[in-house]
Amino acid sequence: MALINCTECGKQVSDKAKKCPNCGHPSNLRMTTVRQTPVRETFVRQPQQQTQIIVNQQNSNGTGTAGFVFALFALFFSWTPVFGWILWFFGLLFSFIGLFKSPRGLAVVGFIISIIDLIILFALVAGVAALFAGIFA
Ligand SMILES: [Zn+2]
Repeated sequence: MALINCTECGKQVSDKAKKCPNCGHPSNLRMTTVRQTPVRETFVRQPQQQTQIIVNQQNSNGTGTAGFVFALFALFFSWTPVFGWILWFFGLLFSFIGLFKSPRGLAVVGFIISIIDLIILFALVAGVAALFAGIFA
């Protein structure tokens, strides 16, 4: 027996069930679940392995992943005032929250990148400050 997610309420239901015991949604749950395989689960090569997909969904750390993505973008946009700072702030925030969830692999990476972002930011500010100090000396 495999567990699938109800397309109506999102609760986990047996794939043998005719309808969802939670909300009574009667459509073919198996077919709709295969169609609704999340895009981010690209490493799952065989969609028919529903149990495997569900295990991955349960173990995903959305907050940590978001923190990682924000931190990564902040790295590329660290030279952009304000926009880079906003990205960095969200990257650090989500990574930090993600550290308390499982799995925290991406959250840890996002947190480290956020710290690197901060070092780059300080280096840029120091560089600009040194430039102005040189001009007005
Ligand atoms: Zn349901």
